[in-house]
Amino acid sequence: MQQNKKDIRALTKAQIRTFFEEQGDKAFRGNQVYEWLWQKSAHTFDEMTNISLETRKKLEDTFVINHIEVDQMQRSSDGTIKNAVKLHDGLVVESVLIPTETRTTACVSSQVGCSLDCKFCATARLKRMRNLNPDEIYDQVVAIDQQSRLYFDRPLSNIVFMGMGEPLMNYNNVLKAIDKITSEEGLGMSQKRITVSTSGVPKMIKKMADEEVKFNLAVSLHSAIDDVRTSIMPFNATFPLKDLREALEYWYVKTKKRITYEYVVWENINDSQKDIDALVRFCKFAPSKVNLIEYNPIDDGMFQQASDSALERYQKTLMENGITVTVRKSRGKDIDAACGQLANKAN
Ligand code: SAH
Repeated sequence: MQQNKKDIRALTKAQIRTFFEEQGDKAFRGNQVYEWLWQKSAHTFDEMTNISLETRKKLEDTFVINHIEVDQMQRSSDGTIKNAVKLHDGLVVESVLIPTETRTTACVSSQVGCSLDCKFCATARLKRMRNLNPDEIYDQVVAIDQQSRLYFDRPLSNIVFMGMGEPLMNYNNVLKAIDKITSEEGLGMSQKRITVSTSGVPKMIKKMADEEVKFNLAVSLHSAIDDVRTSIMPFNATFPLKDLREALEYWYVKTKKRITYEYVVWENINDSQKDIDALVRFCKFAPSKVNLIEYNPIDDGMFQQASDSALERYQKTLMENGITVTVRKSRGKDIDAACGQLANKAN
């Protein structure tokens, strides 16, 4: 029976207003319902107490309110929380809350599984099942905001699209979710506190630049040499570094926003001076900084974190060339919540 009912959260405010008008009711009821659905995250029509019982019944007969459910929550010894998030059709994605002294960051998923095939990433082993809808992305953020208030006594401060999936392969829904997150009718967060991380889809990076988005861009680079990058991120054969570079230059010209490169250094893969020099050259095309990420093993032994001395060489050479470099320690490793570990031990 439910199948015939439409998900009301797939409607725009204007469409909900029209629904009320068509019922001979006042259009502003649509605004009230919209506020319940987004700002107040109502999961049932019964919660909408400023709407008459009769109208609530009408809504109930016509629509469903699809929403996520945090099915399981794991807490790491470092405070990180990993959520198994159940979607309305039973599929599961993961989201992570990462606390620091002053911030709470939400790491959210954009797809169920992933269509890319990065050899070092656990999510790549799950085939892509479907894209997340805007409300499913928005709900992950709301749930983490609530957890942040509950466990850390402060609201969520930052969002990174670094969970499962490739955000630029679900571009429209990711942008719609960001619209809701930043809108005063949603969470009212600043775009500046949001980072979209991509493996690098040149066409979509250019589109984003054209739309003059205000959020930050992070690119999972991992190598600035085509052969090496293709061997660990096979889709690089389709989107080679030349195209990525051109798109990133375009991004900078349009947005004037510095790009962050995420980069893991692995033993015998990208730990030679040649790899470092290639990265330095790549960083000079558009203003950027490098985030050296610790490798989180995914249990197959194919990849090993490079030695400290290799990391130091990276840092030193980048700094000598005036490129900002940070080293990021992993969080939530003990619960498989670190980068690339999502879905590692699922089922
Ligand atoms: N598809 C997007 C976002 C998800 S991955 C992207 O590729 O950017 C988020 C980050 O985790 C990426 O930088 C990715 O390269 C990195 N990552 C994936 N597997 C990892 C692992 N096992 N250890 C450390 N980082 C990993």
